[in-house]
Amino acid sequence: MTHNLHIHNTLTRKKEKFIPINSPFVGMYVCGPTVYSDVHLGNCRTFISFDMMYRYLLHLGYTVRYVRNITDAGHLEGDRDEGDDKFAKKAKLLQVEPMEIVQKYTVGFREIMNLYNTLPPSIEPAATGHIIEQQEITKKIIENKFAYEINGTVYFDVEKYSKTNNYTELTNRKLEDLLEGSRELDGQDEKKGRLDFALWIKAKPEHLMKWPSPWGIGFPGWHIECSAMSTKYLGEKFDLHGGGMDLQATHHTNEIAQNIAYCGKSPANYWLHTNMLTVKRQRMSKSLGNSILPMELVTGNNPLLSKGYHPMAIKFFMMQTHYSSTLDFSDEALQGSEKAFYRLMESYKTLQTISAAASSNENIAELQKKCYEAMDDDFNTPVLIANLFETVRIINSVNDKKINLTQTDIDLLKKIYQDFVFDIMGLKADEENSKSNSALEKVMQLVLEMRIKAKNNKDFAASDEIRNKLNEAGVVIKDGKDGATWSI
Ligand code: AMP
Ligand code: ZN
Repeated sequence: MTHNLHIHNTLTRKKEKFIPINSPFVGMYVCGPTVYSDVHLGNCRTFISFDMMYRYLLHLGYTVRYVRNITDAGHLEGDRDEGDDKFAKKAKLLQVEPMEIVQKYTVGFREIMNLYNTLPPSIEPAATGHIIEQQEITKKIIENKFAYEINGTVYFDVEKYSKTNNYTELTNRKLEDLLEGSRELDGQDEKKGRLDFALWIKAKPEHLMKWPSPWGIGFPGWHIECSAMSTKYLGEKFDLHGGGMDLQATHHTNEIAQNIAYCGKSPANYWLHTNMLTVKRQRMSKSLGNSILPMELVTGNNPLLSKGYHPMAIKFFMMQTHYSSTLDFSDEALQGSEKAFYRLMESYKTLQTISAAASSNENIAELQKKCYEAMDDDFNTPVLIANLFETVRIINSVNDKKINLTQTDIDLLKKIYQDFVFDIMGLKADEENSKSNSALEKVMQLVLEMRIKAKNNKDFAASDEIRNKLNEAGVVIKDGKDGATWSI
């Protein structure tokens, strides 16, 4: 396979050429969602980024086995070994089975991934379906003397491990600094070392999700699930492992330690970390309460939004920033992205109508090369998009009869759109995308104008009736300072 894909590898802190272990096969593991509540836009950014990488690898001709797990057990509040299980807490609150919580939010997650036109992974294993595998790995780690059991809980021995291995390889942080930053142990603690973490946790009688094990009734720790499922489906050594940057210091650091303690191998050759989506420069997170839900973006039903946005405009907004940079969410930024996205789509429509000439004034093959160079440079979608806007300029110039293109070049432009816009970035050019030109948009403008007239005539009964009837028909009207907007 000839390509020149380079990936920034968190493990080596370098941009490296991507060389799969067993080309054309590629194994890729991405930490999936913890399904105890709705996914927010930040989670979506991470999964959309990995979908774009998956799509590019497929486009290059690799046969990719893409495993993205569902975390449906073991993830405790605060991401530590103490505290309530996130699923059980929600289940108790709503008086339902934890598995009802899991089912509800797994289905919701898949719907949202569908809304954003992401491809389903090859395998989507759930932690609760792999309890035996997690126990087997835990047993082996104990056997290899890197873990110990106390009162039904099994801890990973970080100090012991660090004697022969570099525990902080992934973050390059100093072990002493980690120790300094961690809580001092007191009489309440069972574990031997401050940095030790649980592979298996003894269940209290009131705990809802629990299984028998060689160490008594309990449940697995959060980190061991990814070691178990990646090893099961991709082997002890595979190509790519990904997740959000917030997972790097603990979850992924512990995952590497577990795998090495289990079988002597660090699991993945390349580690990829996506950066955070922020709101007012603060990371979007469920616990901070600044989450924006994907459906709120579509309906516009959130105080931060002036209107609803098409999911593809939101996806385009994400693609305009490199996955490794933070992306600050704002309504103004989204408005800009929406306009740019519609311009790209309009230009694609125009491309279908332009006619060929005997010669070309532009080098389209060179432009295609630049698009590949952008993607090969650590999936650089913002540079790719800048190149795609070159196609917009060219298409408009041909349409205005200022320049000419041959049929071969027109066909190549169509291929560039198909490959990079639709197949790799996974954007869709459906009719809704051309909302600005559609008949529906014109009708809606008419209706909104009638409503404004009614309001101006102080006929509030009529203006409310228009809004309510539209609501009944599934159209949400939002009044802003620059007039009313609508969304479906
Ligand atoms: P969770 O459901 O909390 O397990 O998170 C699922 C994925 O979303 C993980 O890879 C996280 O790193 C990622 N994630 C969480 N918050 C954000 C954010 N604000 N921006 C980007 N990714 C995030
Ligand atoms: Zn994981």
